[in-house]
Amino acid sequence: MEQQSLVRWTCVNGCVDEDGSREHMALSPREQCPGHESEAKVTWTKGLCLSPGQDSQSGGHIGPVGKPAPGDQIMWASWWFWPLVAICIADQFRDQAVQIMQDTPAIDGHNDLPWQLLKSFNNQLLDTRANLSSLAHTHTNIPKLKAGFVGGQFWSAYTPCDTQNKDAVKRTLEQIDVVHRMCQLYPETFVCVTNSTGIRQAFQEGKVASLVGVEGGHSIDSSLAVLRALYHLGMRYLTLTHSCNTPWADNWLVDTGTDTAQSQGLSSFGQRQTGSLVMVNFYNDYVSCKAEANLSQVADHLDHIKAVAGAGAVGFGGDFDGVSRLPSGLEDVSKYPDLVAELLRRKWTEAEVRGVLADNLLRVFEEVEQVSNHTQAPGEEVIPLTQLEPSCRTQYGYSKSSGKHLQPGALLASLVPLLLCQGLL
Ligand SMILES: [Zn+2]
Repeated sequence: MEQQSLVRWTCVNGCVDEDGSREHMALSPREQCPGHESEAKVTWTKGLCLSPGQDSQSGGHIGPVGKPAPGDQIMWASWWFWPLVAICIADQFRDQAVQIMQDTPAIDGHNDLPWQLLKSFNNQLLDTRANLSSLAHTHTNIPKLKAGFVGGQFWSAYTPCDTQNKDAVKRTLEQIDVVHRMCQLYPETFVCVTNSTGIRQAFQEGKVASLVGVEGGHSIDSSLAVLRALYHLGMRYLTLTHSCNTPWADNWLVDTGTDTAQSQGLSSFGQRQTGSLVMVNFYNDYVSCKAEANLSQVADHLDHIKAVAGAGAVGFGGDFDGVSRLPSGLEDVSKYPDLVAELLRRKWTEAEVRGVLADNLLRVFEEVEQVSNHTQAPGEEVIPLTQLEPSCRTQYGYSKSSGKHLQPGALLASLVPLLLCQGLL
């Protein structure tokens, strides 16, 4: 037996029958399957490559192999061969993605499942239809989270802009509450945490570290006291605006000309922000500017951010269950390994991939925690009553002397320790 040919050739998908007989139908140069040679555990499992050195005598895996059989050479020219190689390579990257994600699961920065729970079940988790193990109409459920190797999730506490100046704070509290109850009801799957140590612990336990992000500055009703209280309830980021201006920040529609600028953007805050993360939203319209998009276009965005800001600035903020259209190939949270496989195919290093999965967020989170630990006495500024929509408000605490004008930048600067990341939606 010419062992060198076992080194030279690597078997790919479908090359071995259940009974161990070798079929000359799927051989390729080993370089077509880099990395698979070491998969010693590969035996009869279809879809995986065989390790070199295995044969029917020593390992019982493949039959004696000498020089490539005539059939092999014919095979090179066969129409089906190269597609098969492509499948092999694709599988290789996906296998590698799964291998990486077993150690470093994905942390996603934005998921609107709580909003779906409100809309469909008025947050009644005990409703049998709301069972998170079998929930079918959402992008997110427990089996999909497991299949997607999601190990950390910032659940979005979102209330629409039409609650501004009305019941936005109450609605926000209710959405935080439903996240807490998810953790209570499914303790085998979710663990509510509030810091980087908690996330790492959840990774160890194979659970989904569950954190709260509040979506839209209107949720704090221009009150630093509300902001702090939300923090104590577990909120670990606040996106500055949704689709409405607040008295202290303009929303994105100002850039489109749909809304009028009131605060001249975020310039004072932007100068202060460091160590941030861009957590990419998967909404088709943002990804492709069209109703249709695909996984590859999402990877293009990740490539672009990597080129502009470095791989250490990239994260995922899929917006699952917060948007109506998602790219083909990224239809729900179970598809994260496919996106990671695409990054590997694009020659992202393993360290870069681990970064976008979790390490970048953990790094920034820990930096924020350091800042938070050294934050001085909390600010006591109040926003002038004149800047608030008055129809549903009492005026307790306000007097003529307390109406000093608060610069928007002062309020924004006060947010710095709490802002972990700036989502795109
Ligand atoms: Zn959202």
